[in-house]
Order: sequence, then C-alpha cells, then structure tokens
Amino acid sequence: MGEEVQLFEQKLSEFFGRPAICVVNGTAALHLALQACEIGIGDEVLVPSITYVSSYQSITATGAKPISCDISSDSLCIDPVDAEKRLTEKTKAIMPVHYSGGVGDLDGVYEFAQRHNLRVVEDAAHAFGTTYKSRKIGSFGDIACFSFDGIKNITSGEGGCIVSDDLEFLNLVRDARLLGVEKDSEKRYTDQRSWAFDVKRQGWRYHMSNIMAAIGIEQLARFDEISQKRRSLAKRYVEILSSFPSLRLINHDYTEVVPHIFVVQIPKNCHRERIIKFLKDRNIQTGIHYLPNHQLSFFEHSDINGELDVTNDRNQKLLTLPLHEDLNLEEVKYIAQSFLEAIEIR
Ligand SMILES: *Cc1c(COP(=O)(O)O)cnc(C)c1O
Repeated sequence: MGEEVQLFEQKLSEFFGRPAICVVNGTAALHLALQACEIGIGDEVLVPSITYVSSYQSITATGAKPISCDISSDSLCIDPVDAEKRLTEKTKAIMPVHYSGGVGDLDGVYEFAQRHNLRVVEDAAHAFGTTYKSRKIGSFGDIACFSFDGIKNITSGEGGCIVSDDLEFLNLVRDARLLGVEKDSEKRYTDQRSWAFDVKRQGWRYHMSNIMAAIGIEQLARFDEISQKRRSLAKRYVEILSSFPSLRLINHDYTEVVPHIFVVQIPKNCHRERIIKFLKDRNIQTGIHYLPNHQLSFFEHSDINGELDVTNDRNQKLLTLPLHEDLNLEEVKYIAQSFLEAIEIR
C-alpha cells in the first residue's frame, strides 16, 4: 500500500465529498466499520435477512449478533418499522443493505437510528454512484461501505472502501486495516515507514494493494460511461417486462439508482429451478440474490421478535437476470424474451 492507494483514496474523497479509506474488500470494510464503532461481544446489529452472507459474517466477526429484519415489499430493502420491533437494549447499530442499488426508506432508517442512538453502517456494496434525493450515497449519513469486487458497479479486482466524516472513527479504521500499527497509513504515504511503533488494539491485514488501486483509479475515471450503460440496460429490461402485471420489478428511479443487479419477482405458480434451467439451456446465466441468512445454520435463531413475512414470501420468487456493461440492448431483449417464454406468459 502506497502512492496508488493514496491517489485512489483522494479521487474517491472527491467523488463523495468526504474522506474514503480503501481496504482489501467490501466484507473487510463492513467488519472494520463495525469494530471502529466499538461493536463486539454481547451487542446486536439489525440487518435484513435478504443480503449477501458477507453482511452477516462481518457482524459475527466482531463477536456481535446479527438480528434478522424484514424488508419492504417495494424496495426489498430493510423495513425500519419492522427493525424497530426487534430492538433490544443490546442493539448498537443498524446495517441497511442497498439492495440491487436502491436504498429504500433511508430517511426512515436514519430517523429510527437517531431516536435510539444507533450507529448506521450502510452496506452500500450494490450502490456505488446511486443518489438518494439527489445526494450521492456515501456523501451524507453516518458510515457507508462499498465493494470493488469484480462484479460490482466499479471494480479494483478485489477491494472496498469506507466513507464517513467521523474523524475519530476514521483514524480507528486506518490503524485497524494495517494490523493495528499506529499511524502506519500516514507513514506509508509519506515514505517514512518506521520500525518503531506501538499497537494498542486488534487489527487486521485489510489494506488495499497498489495494484488493486491502480485498476480502481482507471475504473473510477470511466464511471460515467459505466453507470450510463448499466442504467440503459436496466431500463431496456423494464420497457420489455413492465407490461406483464404478474411480474414484479423493483420500481427504481434510474435517474437516481445505478443498478448493480436486475431482479425480477416471478409469479406464484412458476417454478424457479425450471426457469433457471430453461435459460441456462439458452446460455443465459441467472442468479439468486439471496438465500435468506436467517435460514443458514450459522445464523439460526437470528430472527428473534417475530416472523419475517415479506422475506419468507419473496424468498422463492427472486430471480436475477444478467446485467453487465458488456451486454448490449439486443442481448437484453433476447434475455427478456427468453425469460417470458420460460414463464409462459408470452
Ligand atoms: C459484494 C457484497 C459485499 C462484500 O463485498 P466483497 O468485496 O465481495 O467482500 C457485501 N454486501 C453485499 C450486499 C455485497 O453484494
């Protein structure tokens, strides 16, 4: 970690209008953010069950317990009204997940968090570039964590970043990403790495490498082009699929959302595995985002204080169609039409 990482951080800070710290991946970003909020053993973190397992593992990595929350049926993002029902005296933070690139009722999340003095660690892995009420995700609020994994809106091969304006928090993150070695980030950036240092807290080897940062810098320079392409592909899907009322799409405003994945909710009587197979036979790869985490053995009994009704209802119906900047509009049309054939409503 040196010059390129420092430059990538500068460019990200200009992008967000706030300090950004680069780390080795998005999971590490979430883990470090929670740790720097002093969340640990005995604490609880509210999180939607429909998310990548990374959100959950980052919570248990601190020793805290993930508390599974339900999602809103429109955005498939955490429902702050449901989250409030799961609040206990152990609750220290809420981790909203910006599912597919949209953010749901983010104002509601922040109002709820403020009322109960909770930290907000946004899992913004899907939402690089998305705005909420015209403000970029990461440019406001408490803490936002992004991923630059190979499939995310921009990539550094692997990578992630943490964005906040809480300076004390940021210093804890900076040290913890370099094995807890005090002020090691500053020393590396000024070429003064010293071998006399102190370590006062648990740290991790979570820094970003120069090679990853160099890729990230080039991707960020192309972000306008990349985001417009992702939006135009998603809008094409919507044009073709929105005329079928038995299909439910997430109602994104693509002037704000930069879509990470394109998710359709298939009709009740459709068998998802059969659709996946039908599309695979046409060389169309699909995905499932996600298996609810409260059903995974390691996170069992995380659904305290009530059923996850929307989560359980949607669980078998979510299907992700390909969305990649190297697709073209014709290919999206072919995929959408094949999908309609697969569910036999055409
Ligand atoms: C990708 C992703 C992460 C983690 O990012 P990595 O860089 O893969 O560690 C976290 N949360 C969600 C919702 C993700 O999709």
